[in-house]
Amino acid sequence: MRMTVIGCGYLGAVHAASMAELGHDVVGIDVDEAKIAALASGLPPFFEPGLPELLDRALATGRLRFTTDYAEARGNAVHFVAVGTPQQPGALAADLKYVHAAADALAPVLTPGDLVVGKSTVPVGTARALAARLEGTGAVVAWNPEFLREGFAIEDTLHPDRLVYGLPDEPDSRDLVRATLDEVYAATIADGTPVVATDLETAELVKSAANAFLATKISFINAMAEVCEAAGADVTQLADAIGHDARIGRRFLNAGLGFGGGCLPKDIRAFMARAGELGADQALTFLREVDQINMRRRSRAVDLAREALGGSVLGRKIAVLGLAFKPDSDDVRDSPALNVAAQLALQGASVLCHDPRAIENSRRRFPELSYVATIAEAVRDADAVMVLTEWNDYRELDPVLLAEQVAQPIVIDGRNCLDSAAWRAAGWRYRALGRPREA
Ligand code: NAD
Repeated sequence: MRMTVIGCGYLGAVHAASMAELGHDVVGIDVDEAKIAALASGLPPFFEPGLPELLDRALATGRLRFTTDYAEARGNAVHFVAVGTPQQPGALAADLKYVHAAADALAPVLTPGDLVVGKSTVPVGTARALAARLEGTGAVVAWNPEFLREGFAIEDTLHPDRLVYGLPDEPDSRDLVRATLDEVYAATIADGTPVVATDLETAELVKSAANAFLATKISFINAMAEVCEAAGADVTQLADAIGHDARIGRRFLNAGLGFGGGCLPKDIRAFMARAGELGADQALTFLREVDQINMRRRSRAVDLAREALGGSVLGRKIAVLGLAFKPDSDDVRDSPALNVAAQLALQGASVLCHDPRAIENSRRRFPELSYVATIAEAVRDADAVMVLTEWNDYRELDPVLLAEQVAQPIVIDGRNCLDSAAWRAAGWRYRALGRPREA
């Protein structure tokens, strides 16, 4: 099938390359010329494991092209919309200006019967509004929300847990769209991926609800971490124990610095804002707590550093290991790690930051922080080491060797990802969120 992917960021670039991998003929469109030039030469402008190889393969077949020219979408049967939907400055709601701009730029090249498929995460009601906006074109609008995780984006795109189709109301059009989407994802469906077909509103809400649930699960365990800290209990043992209950499950119960990135924080806020507009704001007031618990973890990590360093971080040298919002990503949008590094610097600490992939993005956001290329440079003569993103590079550190390089062996495990017993045995004072002070 011939298709367009509009917006070639984390989601769109992966989607475009994955669709070409499935055998489709794909044009990726973005307004960012530098991004398009990089993608066209097979160099993703962000880090995602496996994407360079996937891009190379797809570009070599000639089935994948990138352009800034919307005219190249003309004649394609399906147009995916994968542009950003960030939080509005100074408000909780999502900013839909990129979705509207993409629809307006696409409209002149649409022909009757074309299918416009939203993949971006949007407030419920957006798909129907977009259909009205595009009414004169004769195109049909569907919504097919995306659930990929950065770091696993290709696997999640090619082998998702489920496909959700938000379909138009009119029965003929509904059947046609369903058949077209089944054709788009034929290979994925043949692998056994379940399809959930709904109306437009339900599909939009499925994505908001999934993110709200995941955020709640993380904040739940982080709330337990707060109580564990007050009671001298251990949240990692607590999570293991409650996680054995199949109704609860152990996944997403890792206490630590909490969630960040370009999705969960802004999505739960946009969800609250939209519920308010719909007169259902009371239904989601708990998400305000979820957000607040999450943000408190960042200050708590700074407090832990201050406590460990005798009441102040002023003038102390702190090695910050990890800046990305999660491992296997270079994404620092609303990153808890970067936020903690910035808070420490504001309080007068001399912070040396390391990350395997996210230094350039971090420097763009916080040019005033100091960045180093190696772990060794970060920890040399440090008064404390803080692990803030659970990269394998840090999990695998040898605490015995590291102890020889620092000024004092104090480690703060912001992600509960280190072997506390091994670090303590190597002479470190080990502190972590939600864990007792001593072994
Ligand atoms: P991103 O910022 O990396 O990419 C968005 C892209 O859209 C940018 O490259 C931007 O230049 C482009 N763009 C903006 N306006 C445009 C226009 N008028 N025409 C063409 N391109 C335009 O964002 P992202 O992380 O890829 O997220 C995109 C959407 O997908 C968001 O709604 C997000 O919530 C959702 N989503 C993201 C993920 C993820 O893990 N990143 C997962 C699921 C869903």
